[in-house]
Amino acid sequence: MNAITFVDALALLGYLGALILILATPGRARSVGSGLKYPLAAAIGLLVFVSLSNVLEHAGVSVALDAYEDYAEVLFVPLVAYILFSRTTVEQLAAAKSAREATRREHALLMNVVDTAPSGVMVADEDGRVWFANSEARSFVSAPTAGVSMMATEGLRPAVVRAVTTAPVRMARMRVDIDGEERWFSLSATPLAADGASSRQAVVAFQDISAQVASDHELEQYREDLEKQVDRRTGELLALNRQLQTANETGQRLLANISHELRTPLNSILGFTEIMLRETPGQLNDEQRRQLNFVQTSGRQLLGMVDSVLEVARGDAGRGAVAGAPIDLRESLAQVIAPLEVIAAERNITLSCSCPETVMLVTDADKLGQVVRNLATNAIKFTEPGGSVDVELEIGADEAVVRVADDGIGIDPGDQERIFEAFEQVVSEGRLRPSGVGLGLAICKELCDVLGYGLEVQSAPGEGSTFTVRIPYDVETADSASREDLA
Ligand code: ADP
Repeated sequence: MNAITFVDALALLGYLGALILILATPGRARSVGSGLKYPLAAAIGLLVFVSLSNVLEHAGVSVALDAYEDYAEVLFVPLVAYILFSRTTVEQLAAAKSAREATRREHALLMNVVDTAPSGVMVADEDGRVWFANSEARSFVSAPTAGVSMMATEGLRPAVVRAVTTAPVRMARMRVDIDGEERWFSLSATPLAADGASSRQAVVAFQDISAQVASDHELEQYREDLEKQVDRRTGELLALNRQLQTANETGQRLLANISHELRTPLNSILGFTEIMLRETPGQLNDEQRRQLNFVQTSGRQLLGMVDSVLEVARGDAGRGAVAGAPIDLRESLAQVIAPLEVIAAERNITLSCSCPETVMLVTDADKLGQVVRNLATNAIKFTEPGGSVDVELEIGADEAVVRVADDGIGIDPGDQERIFEAFEQVVSEGRLRPSGVGLGLAICKELCDVLGYGLEVQSAPGEGSTFTVRIPYDVETADSASREDLA
């Protein structure tokens, strides 16, 4: 076999293989393309025929195939042209189809987005004709009838027309009457490119904000009401304040009057007592002198108390200057208690003073005396006849402790704090009605604060009370006071 025959045989085998492959490949396979399988097989078949003819010719086998070889070659060219043309067309058709599908998908997605938007969206023109409306907008659009396009409903139409003619525009709040009902909308319009349309068009997006406007209105109403209420209450408070100011001024005047009314007769009593003690009207016996001394001491104490009560009522108790002078504490207590013995005796109450030791102190004797007097007076007042009141003095290393103890009616623990407040009294069933005004302990507290002394109470109902005044002292000052006093 020469070289040409070998090449022809190889070509024949190749073409045969290709033919088998094409015929075995399913018609829908992409590599071949539907509809091209058989034209291609026919073209290859022609090549097989030509190769076979060549092989036989070169092999010297005389078969009358040569005569048909030219036909085969003539047929081959249009077949190949057909295949090439078809292949291009098939590809173009496939590309066009997939582009159409992609556009359809995008359109569906877009429609879905526009349709599910919470706002109404429509494409409208300046005559109120609607070319597109999403589902939210459809209830504001009349259905198209024969020959008449969709229109924005009567209520909304003027707003739509206005939005389209003034687009681009944004209207935050627009009143619209729909079926005689007042509704509020927010609208915005974006002009659409003319694109040969006969009238101006725009995309109009709108939202029914009636509920929001109603709640804004309600809030506004509420705010106005609140302002009116605040104004009214402020007016009332101002009026009350004026009344209180007037009452306060009246109270001040009353206090000044009381002060005058109480002081004048007291000063007369003290003045005449003084004259009698000087024996200007005549000589006194010892008992008369003793009694008149009581009158004088009590009168002075009363004057001091009137001043204190007035000070507390005016709100400046204890603000007076603190006088400091050395005193013998035991002696000072005895002087305070002596005038109270008469009152205690009248009530059949034993008043005693347990003061085994004493100390010299620099203090304001009047203020301290007023504290002890108030406590002892209360003790006598709130103890049943037959009871006892004891004023004790205990001298410690750096403090002197004065206790006023009684076995009277006692004080409920719940009341023990508030009795030190001004005008606070314990009023309860089966309890002695207090005869005072509830200022005694408030004055004591105020005076102790001014003097730097502690004041506390221990008491139990039915078991009596003990009021304790703690007087801290500087040992050196007390000693020197003691020396000065002795000198
Ligand atoms: P007043 O004696 O004028 O009522 P106070 O301020 O002195 O006012 O006393 C306030 C209240 O404390 C009294 O009304 C009384 O109920 C109670 N109180 C004060 N001292 C005693 C006491 N020793 N025993 C029982 N209750 C007392």
